[in-house]
Amino acid sequence: MALTGLEIFKLLPKTNCKKCGMPTCLAFAMQLAQKRAKLDDCPCVSEEAKQTLAAAAAPPMRLVKFGKGERGVQIGQETVMFRHEEKFYSPTVLAVTVSDKLTGEDLKKRIESINALQFERVGAKIGVNAIAVINDSGSADAFAAAAAQAGESSGLALILVSQNPSAIAAAVGKTAEATPLIASAKADTVEAMAKIAKENNCPLVAQAESIEALAELTEKIKSQGVEDIVLSLETRSLRDQLYGLSRMRALSLKKVFRPLGYPTLSFVTDGDSDQQAVAAASLICKYSGIVVVDTVEPYAFLPILTTVMNIFTDPQKPVQVEPKVYSIGEPDKNAPVLFTTNFSLTYYTVESDVEASRVPSYILVVDTEGTSVLTAYSGDKLNEKAVADAMAKYNIEGQVSHRKLIIPGYVAVMSGKLEEATNWEIMVGPRESSMLPKYLQEVWK
Ligand code: SF4
Repeated sequence: MALTGLEIFKLLPKTNCKKCGMPTCLAFAMQLAQKRAKLDDCPCVSEEAKQTLAAAAAPPMRLVKFGKGERGVQIGQETVMFRHEEKFYSPTVLAVTVSDKLTGEDLKKRIESINALQFERVGAKIGVNAIAVINDSGSADAFAAAAAQAGESSGLALILVSQNPSAIAAAVGKTAEATPLIASAKADTVEAMAKIAKENNCPLVAQAESIEALAELTEKIKSQGVEDIVLSLETRSLRDQLYGLSRMRALSLKKVFRPLGYPTLSFVTDGDSDQQAVAAASLICKYSGIVVVDTVEPYAFLPILTTVMNIFTDPQKPVQVEPKVYSIGEPDKNAPVLFTTNFSLTYYTVESDVEASRVPSYILVVDTEGTSVLTAYSGDKLNEKAVADAMAKYNIEGQVSHRKLIIPGYVAVMSGKLEEATNWEIMVGPRESSMLPKYLQEVWK
């Protein structure tokens, strides 16, 4: 069990030397108890106390990694129940199934269609992270062959799904270099599966029908020397899955119950693409570290991936683009100059509408700490000084021969002061970005 702040305090040197950055040892102990400080921050703690404190210092949820190189993934190490309390750390890994009943061209096409599930949204690359090879055939050889091909034809991380230890051993034998995630150990296979995981240094999924059975299973796996464990609940309904995942999260984070202090995996393989997208998005919110789906319909992945992106964005750091002057097309000295803020969603909306106008332009992006135009204006982060400073800093004057600045219609009220601050003619653009193509083609001359 986790130690309380006072229990930790009793083990500290109590010199209040402040080397840890805290004013007192008691303050440091309280931070450590809440997982907001690291034991290493105190250089004075004794080795003996370190060992006792290790349990309190360890994160409540283990970080588990699998896959190799650039496409390797990690899950876990979450510290809070709700994003607004701090932030979520490890974005949900999205995996797609490949049945080992597929062979030849069919197998190749399935893997290719999964590899292609990569997209770009507000300047970020998002996509499927893993392939889950499923031992539908019941044959160890077929499973190993499909796993080997998935490993060779895709840089994505691998999840090997079979209840048969012999099939897992055969597939791991072909893919061990890629550090696959082994799924799954159950009560009757735990020893054999843990042995394979230990020998090949692979993480292992523990699967059971109840939270209590899962806790027992992880203890057995750990006793065999496997530390990297992923939890999977076998439940019939999405409701039960969400309830179970929420309970496990609370037990691991709030109670620091170590047998459940691991990330989780859920299968969403029933229903059509729409139903899978809805279930996957729900499980991402509450609290699945890996979601395995069956569909390869690109349209179904956009809401799923957008959910991952939104849930795992740091709420204190809006997604931002770099403040500077962006060239759209090949603008010359007569090209229009517009400004907007560095909130990603705002910038990319304006960028795509300017592109759609086919009028080569410059977009000046003003640093508003990642807030949108109206939010920045009402918070006084977007004012005539901020715009004039950005114009000077990024030397927009040197890039065009005219002195006309198109401003967002929502901040038309800035026109007068902005004209005074910049000596540029201010042109009030449309309120909605979607009207920019018409504006640039018809109003801008
Ligand atoms: Fe106490 Fe260690 Fe912090 Fe010094 S560095 S104040 S001894 S906790």
